[in-house]
Amino acid sequence: MKAESWIRTTPAGLYCEPGGFHIDPTRAVPRAVISHGHADHARPGHGAVLATDDTLAIMRQRYGDNAGGELQAAAYGELLNIGDVAVTLVPAGHVLGSAQIVLEHRGSRVVVSGDYKRRRDPTCAAFEPQPCDVFVTEATFGLPVFRHPPDHEEIARLLHSVSLYPDRCHVIGVYALGKCQRVMALLREAGWDAPLYIHGALAGLIELYESLGVALGPVAPVAGAERDALKGQIVLAPPSAIADRWSRRLPDPVVAMASGWMRVKQRAKARGVELPLVISDHADWDELTETITGLGAEEIWVTHGNEEALVHYAGTKGLRARPLDLVGYDDEE
Ligand SMILES: [Zn+2]
Ligand SMILES: [Zn+2]
Repeated sequence: MKAESWIRTTPAGLYCEPGGFHIDPTRAVPRAVISHGHADHARPGHGAVLATDDTLAIMRQRYGDNAGGELQAAAYGELLNIGDVAVTLVPAGHVLGSAQIVLEHRGSRVVVSGDYKRRRDPTCAAFEPQPCDVFVTEATFGLPVFRHPPDHEEIARLLHSVSLYPDRCHVIGVYALGKCQRVMALLREAGWDAPLYIHGALAGLIELYESLGVALGPVAPVAGAERDALKGQIVLAPPSAIADRWSRRLPDPVVAMASGWMRVKQRAKARGVELPLVISDHADWDELTETITGLGAEEIWVTHGNEEALVHYAGTKGLRARPLDLVGYDDEE
C-alpha cells in the first residue's frame, strides 16, 4: 500500500489514518505519537500521548498535568500495535529520549525521524538507521554550506579562549533542552571539572537529565555568585540571556553561542557573539545526504528547514522526494 494513502498531512501535522494518531502534532489532538521533547514537537493538551519514558518525563516537567490525558511509554525497539499499524520507537540521536517513529502498515514501512543527528552525543542514544520505503527527514541544515566541524574541536577552541582570558568569564548561549547538557558533557570529557555556572532557567532540565542517569558534574547558580568568583569560569545561559541585561552581572564576559547557525557569520554578529561555536543537535548537510541515500528508501519526504535543496539532491540520486510543507516547527537553535 502506498504511503500517501495512509499517512497524510493535516492542519495539525502528519496523520496516520489506520492508527488514528498524529505525529508531533502542532495543536492538541485526541491521540499523538511524539518524537522528542522540544516544545514545537511535544505540545501540551493531547488526549493520549505515546513517547519514550524520557520524552514523557520532559513533557511532565514542562507541562505538569497538561502533558496529556493518558501517557503511554514505549521502550526503544518495543513493537506496539495501534489500530492496524505496527509502531516502534528507535533512537534518533537528537536529544535525550528522542525517537524515530517506525510505522508499518500492510507491507509498507515509513520512518518519521523527527529531528536527528548522526554524530556521537554522550547525553543520548545514537541514531539507529532503519530500512524503510519512505523516510521522512528534517532539513534544518539542508544546504551544502552547513557542515558542522567535530564538536571536540569547538570545545577545544572554547577552552583555549578561557585559558587566554583568565580575568574574563565565558558565557555560552545554549538551548535549554539537549544543547545545554551536551555542551556540559563535552566539557567534562575535555577535562573541565570545575563547577559550571548556570542561569536559573537551565536548572530544571539539567536536574532532570541527572535524575534520568546522565551525569553532568557539579553546577552552581550564577545568582548569588560573587562577580570576581566568575573570572576564568564558564557560564551557561539561554540564548536570549547572553546579550541581555542579565549578562551585565558577569565580569567582562566573552559571549559565545553553541549552535549550527554559528556557521553563518552574520547570525553570530547579529547576536553579539564573539566566540561562535558550531555545535548542533541537527544533522548537517553531509549527515542528511548520507542518511537519505543510505536507508534503501525509494521515497523521501522533507520537512522543516531548507526543503528544496534536499529534495533536489534526492532527485539527482534517483529518489522520489517531496517537501511536506508542514507548518509550526521552529529551527530550535
Ligand atoms: Zn528538536
Ligand atoms: Zn524540529
